[in-house]
Order: sequence, then C-alpha cells, then structure tokens
Amino acid sequence: MKTKIPNKIRIRRSVIEQIKNTVGQRQPETGGALGGNRNSGEITEYFFDEGAYVSGVEYRPNRDAVNTAIRNWPSADFVGIVHSHPRGVPFPSGMDISSAISLFSNPGNDNLRYSAIPIVQSSATGPFSMTMFVVDRSDHELHEIPITILDEKKTQESPNECFSRISSSVNLERLADTHALCIGCGGSAEFITDLARSGFGRFCLIDPDRYEHANLATQACFRSDVGTPKVESIAARIQQINADADVHPMHCSLDDLSDDALSELISETTLVLGMTDSFHAQARTNQIALKWGIPSLCAQVYRGGYAAEVTFTHPETTLACHRCILSSRYDAFLKKGIKNHATSEGSQYVATPTVNSLKLWTTLALAHHGSGHSFWGDKLAELGNRNLALIQLDPNVDESLGIRAFKNAYNHPNAFTGNILWREQFPENPTTGYNYSCPDCGGTGNLKARGENIPDTKIIPTCPES
Ligand SMILES: [Zn+2]
Ligand SMILES: [Zn+2]
Repeated sequence: MKTKIPNKIRIRRSVIEQIKNTVGQRQPETGGALGGNRNSGEITEYFFDEGAYVSGVEYRPNRDAVNTAIRNWPSADFVGIVHSHPRGVPFPSGMDISSAISLFSNPGNDNLRYSAIPIVQSSATGPFSMTMFVVDRSDHELHEIPITILDEKKTQESPNECFSRISSSVNLERLADTHALCIGCGGSAEFITDLARSGFGRFCLIDPDRYEHANLATQACFRSDVGTPKVESIAARIQQINADADVHPMHCSLDDLSDDALSELISETTLVLGMTDSFHAQARTNQIALKWGIPSLCAQVYRGGYAAEVTFTHPETTLACHRCILSSRYDAFLKKGIKNHATSEGSQYVATPTVNSLKLWTTLALAHHGSGHSFWGDKLAELGNRNLALIQLDPNVDESLGIRAFKNAYNHPNAFTGNILWREQFPENPTTGYNYSCPDCGGTGNLKARGENIPDTKIIPTCPES
C-alpha cells in the first residue's frame, strides 16, 4: 500500500528559529535531529548534533548523542534529520536518500511512514533557507513538501488561556459546550462575537446575506468584509477570538432548512436565537424552541429605534411562549396582512448595540440556568415569568410609539425598571382572559407540552378568533 504523504509539514516556529541559529549559521554539512508527530506531520522538537563528525563533504549524525536526545523528548517521536548543504545544492544527495531509507529499519521506527530530510542553506554562505523533503517508506521516493509554521501560541496556549480573566465570572466549562443556533447574523454580529468572548464554544450561524457597503454604517463589519457572506466573516472573527470554538457557518436562509435538517443541528445544549427582521423567521424560531424543548431568545428593534424588545423562553422558568407575548403582532401579520414594520431603514444605530448588550445578558442567564454559578446561576429563576424585556431609547416613548409601559411600571408591583423593563407574561388561554389557547404552545404554561407534536415548524398555525 502506498504511503499517504502529508501535503504540508508543519514546523513549530521555535524549531525553525533554533535551526536558523545553529545549522543555519555554521559551515555546510552540519545537522541535527527532528521530532514530532509521525501521523500529523507536525515537527515540534529539534536537537542540534554539535558533536557530529563533520568532513565538509558529508554530514554523519552522532548516533549516541541523537538517540539520547530523542529519548528525552517528552511527547515527540523521531521524524528525520535536518542538515545543511553547500550553496547551490538545496536538495538531498543520493547518499542522503540512502541514509534516510536505512532509518526505516532502525528499532523504534516501524511506524515511521516517511523520513524527513530538509536541506538548509546556511547564512554562512548567503541567505538562510530550508527546503523540506521526505522519503516515502513504501517506494523510497523523494518528495518536496511545503512547510507551514506552527505558532507557539496555538500549540502552547492552554485551552482557556484567553478566558483567564473571566474564569470566575462565568462557568467556562458549561459555556464551552453551549451551542448558539443563531438565526440572522446582521445586526447581531457583535452580539455573536461577544458570545465567543464570553466563552460560548459552539456556534451555528444561519444567514443568506453577504455584506454590502451600506452595512458599514449599520452593522459590526469592515470594508474587507464587503462581498463576503455574513456567516463566513463572523465565523472567522469567532475563530480569531477563540481558536478552539466550533463554528458552523450556513450561508442560507432559515426557509432553506427543513425540520429534519434542523434536528441534525440541535442538541440538548442548544439555545435558539432568532435575530432576523422577518416576521416568519421569528415566528418559526418560537416553534423550533417549542418543538425541541430548548431555551430561546428573540429580539427586535422598533421602528426608528425609539425602543427595542427581547423576549426569551426557558421550559423550566417561563410560562408564555414568544407568540403568547407578541400575539398582537401575530394578529397584525397573519390577519391584517401587515408587512414587516421592523426594518433598520432610518433607525437609530445606537439601538443595535443597546439591544445587543441586553441579548448578551439574557443569553448568559439562559445558558447558566441551573449551573449554580454565583452570579448567573439564579438569574433566570429570579426573573421568573418576566420574559419580555423592553428598552426605552426615547424619553417620550409614550408619545412617539404609544408605549405607556415605562410610565405605568413605576406603580406596578410586578415590574421593575432600570434602563430595561422586564414584564410578567402569562400563557394565552381562556383562564388568562383569551377566548382561545395559544396555537403555538397550547397556552398550558408547559412549554414542553406540544414538543414533537408540532408537525412542521415552517407552518405558523392560525389562531381562532382573538
Ligand atoms: Zn547531504
Ligand atoms: Zn404560546
């Protein structure tokens, strides 16, 4: 069977530096041993064979010194020999290839599938260079292979080093396993990357749009993003924050995904986050949360940016689904045929980062529910069924949008307000004053009651009379 030669060899930056400072500065025909992972092709160790026999025409390793060094490598195997050649001969000689082949029969080299013999051009004779060659064990053929540099940070950074300053402010272990299913990534870009900064480790990003120039003034993006699918730019930024994050960008609309496709994406640790300006996508987010019994969050900026809302559900703490909370909006869309009123056109940009920070707070509370964390563990239970949060962004919002809730809140025992008003919500059913039960959740107060009985989350059920 032919050996699978790696298409690149990755070398730790410090190994290249050490080679540069030893073999790379001496006269030609000096060398050393390389260690690393025989399967992945990573080279992480180097031993400068200073005591080798050097003739000026051939480098012959000092076997005892090399073997002792190899035994001292903590977690690397011998993978080959690096040595320098006279200027103008940047490739192995026939003798070099024979030596590389003979290594295959040495004890301990049974699983050495290829033997590395990079050739250095020393700075003693001109510019430094190193060209990677390997000899294939199966057919003894020589291959030249590109080198990539393995940065120390990536190999030596402990997994959570970037989170060292927040390790007590969140439960990192829990967040690393929490999966944020983000539907709509435009105005939420900064919220999503802030989830990564907060320690969230798993993301699925769904959005059909590419960045346009007009987004530079309304969304967290840069000129270099224009033309790129939003999900791909954001996925790259998440990786820039946490290289270990597991990010799955899906450049498509929620409508393109069937329930079967969604069930592949959703797990026990998924939070579904509806952040589009489409009524139907938001309504489907509610059904997704109910069908799979998972926590959810939806957000909207109101017309002009005078106010904004966040609604959330958790089957263990809230009674009302998003539809129970927003039933008048459902009526407007489904019965009165009103089109989307929540467009960012002409909206105050300040509403976007403001609502994003509320989303971040709420999502951290959702993710930590039941974790026992000293700050976040009880937040959701403390909020109870106050699962509508309103942000007032205009002092006269009662006049500008007709929202009197903020003025009324001061006299209401079941509400509190800082910048944000959290309002108590009840499931819609005949005992709470409706002549119907919520068609999405059933209005029972148990958000897991309908679950798998929801046939297709794409179909928004119509309501009887309201
Ligand atoms: Zn040679
Ligand atoms: Zn409901």
